[in-house]
Amino acid sequence: MARVEYTEPSSIEEVLGVLDQQGDDAKILAGGQSLLVLLRDGLIHPRVLVGLQGVPGLDQITANGELHVGAMATHTAVQTHPAVRARWALLAQAEAAVSAPQIRNRGTLVGNVAHAFPTADPPAALIALGAQVRLRSSVGERTLPIEEFFVGFMQTALEPTELVTEVLIPAQPAGALGAYLKYAMRPLDFSIVGVGARVVLAADGTCSEARIGLNGAGPIPARAHRAEAALWGRRLASDSDAIDTAAEAAASDSEPVGDIDGSAEYKRKMVRVFVRRALQQALAGAPAG
Ligand SMILES: Cc1cc2nc3c(=O)[nH]c(=O)nc-3n(C[C@H](O)[C@H](O)[C@H](O)COP(=O)(O)OP(=O)(O)OC[C@H]3O[C@@H](n4cnc5c(N)ncnc54)[C@H](O)[C@@H]3O)c2cc1C
Repeated sequence: MARVEYTEPSSIEEVLGVLDQQGDDAKILAGGQSLLVLLRDGLIHPRVLVGLQGVPGLDQITANGELHVGAMATHTAVQTHPAVRARWALLAQAEAAVSAPQIRNRGTLVGNVAHAFPTADPPAALIALGAQVRLRSSVGERTLPIEEFFVGFMQTALEPTELVTEVLIPAQPAGALGAYLKYAMRPLDFSIVGVGARVVLAADGTCSEARIGLNGAGPIPARAHRAEAALWGRRLASDSDAIDTAAEAAASDSEPVGDIDGSAEYKRKMVRVFVRRALQQALAGAPAG
């Protein structure tokens, strides 16, 4: 392995200065749970690793109205945060589905999002919750809806000179119900398919809003727009046809990749099964936030 320099700036401005100088030759190091695997396997060849550990405050999680998860907040910190469990429980469920405690204790939510692995757990939940990603460079800041952040297989809208500073999740509307379900061969595996579903029920029980995020249904985490549309205005508690139609739409719009875990056709069937189950679980009362 070629020699890799390591630097640990003590402020965001310093991090951005290194990114300005090094561009594509620099890689941000958060918890290292994905980056070090890529390095070990020779899949990336950065000249410098920029550790975020020395930047104070990046591990902050704040919940005043909306939820802000800083770039160094670990999966465990998010999963166990009292406000996340109470008001964004769908995210806590997805964080709990990430591998084992050892991975969750070091890996970060933002690193997981920046890595953009198509079968990672949190992205589907974040799509369902309407999350945004905040990016900062030395010339300014921009905020993207999370589904626009993912642009291709393990590719994001992040420029080499940008840092993801936080993930933001809006306050969830009254009447929101949600669930994250993961389908994997063994408990610690990556998902074959993951579904984050959030529905909002009006006082009369009709669905006034729906958002469905999918992992493993294609090369990028995706939003199931046609499935969502099949739910709007329907009384979901007594309308299993609407749920079946939504599950079918999600499956037929998905473009899973066949691999050792199963053929594309099999995975498409699993999308249908798990969208239906996630919606049923959400409607059974699992709080979305
Ligand atoms: C054995 C194993 C099992 C796993 N199982 C699962 C699983 O079941 N489900 C799941 O969802 N995940 C799983 N993961 C991945 C895990 O969730 C990682 O923690 C996560 O993908 C990366 O977070 P990190 O903080 O370790 O990021 P790092 O590994 O440090 O970085 C990952 C990538 O993101 C970039 N990056 C990190 N932070 C920033 C930032 N602030 N701005 C810009 N770029 C940034 C890095 O440059 C790198 O390209 C597993 C990992 C391992 C090793």
